Amino acid sequence: MPRPIRATIDLEALRHNYRIARQKAGQARAYAVVKANAYGHGLDRALQALGDVADGFALLDLAEAREVRAFGLHQPIVLLEGFFEPADLAEVERLQLTPAIHNKAQIKMLEQARLETPIDVLLKVNSGMNRLGFDGERFEAALARLRAIPAVRQITLMTHFPRADEPAGISAPLTTFKHITASAGAGLPLCLANSATLLRFPEAAGQIVRPGIMLYGGSPMPELHSAEKLGLKPVMTLSSEIIGVQQLKAGDAVGYGATFVADGAMRVGVVACGYADGYPRHAPTGTPILVNGRRSRVLGRVSMDMLACDLTHLPEAGVGTPVTLWGDGLPADEVASAAGTISYELFCALARRVPVQIRRARI
Ligand SMILES: *Cc1c(COP(=O)(O)O)cnc(C)c1O
Repeated sequence: MPRPIRATIDLEALRHNYRIARQKAGQARAYAVVKANAYGHGLDRALQALGDVADGFALLDLAEAREVRAFGLHQPIVLLEGFFEPADLAEVERLQLTPAIHNKAQIKMLEQARLETPIDVLLKVNSGMNRLGFDGERFEAALARLRAIPAVRQITLMTHFPRADEPAGISAPLTTFKHITASAGAGLPLCLANSATLLRFPEAAGQIVRPGIMLYGGSPMPELHSAEKLGLKPVMTLSSEIIGVQQLKAGDAVGYGATFVADGAMRVGVVACGYADGYPRHAPTGTPILVNGRRSRVLGRVSMDMLACDLTHLPEAGVGTPVTLWGDGLPADEVASAAGTISYELFCALARRVPVQIRRARI
């Protein structure tokens, strides 16, 4: 028997979550963000679930874009960081990709490429995040140069908000964006919303939205709204089993560094899941875990292949008892928050050595 850890990917939940994004988007088209191997869920699996429903896709690498086209899909594909060198443009043209244009070097490459087939582009505006994009000084020149390139067909204006998931919201950067684009960019379609923006400020969605985390059942702002409240279903469930049990008495410690010490008699279960499976090593004592569907807590330090949990109140649990690390019944957002991170990071970190099982979409 293989080690009992596995990840289950629920394709029906992914379709359900996409439908929620679609509803929120109203008239806008919803491009599913499938970068980073579909946030660790597997690009091929995301395409199985969303291929026939998604209005488009957004990702980072030409290799991922090739995979989408090889899957037989013809929807628009946005390259969120655009292209990186002139040689990329032949493939952008061949695969009919929609690159984000965020620096002058990319415009120069486009000018020199002399593409035969027109492509659409997203022109990225820096509205205050100061990551990618043209600021108020440089936007109009960039737009004018793009407009002068015969192979550039539709130009859509894009920006990304740094605090859409926080009480601060999007109002300051949205004002900056409008100010930068108002005159030269008037009338162009807009692509402004990640999951948090789409869920909280759908009125600012524009013509194309680009939800990511919500498709995978994570809340982009778990402090404000749980995934469940948002109507989202978990897509990835990471589960394993108890493979060892220890009886502790007061003063006994658990795991490396002896960071957890029992203050009385305790039963401890050892779970076949560690940081080499993608479980966060920095998850402290107290991080929630489900044992046979009942809540318990992680104890002591997470090791490479194992972690310990409290079975003191679960006398029926023993070797072979199923454990859920996150997913069905235990939101990844809760585990992430206990570990000082976000569900995005948990999903993306799922290790290759974890076997994946698909729960098929009931199409
Ligand atoms: C990753 C990404 C998204 C998706 O963000 P979520 O918070 O996962 O919805 C949207 N836009 C850009 C530019 C991104 O890099």
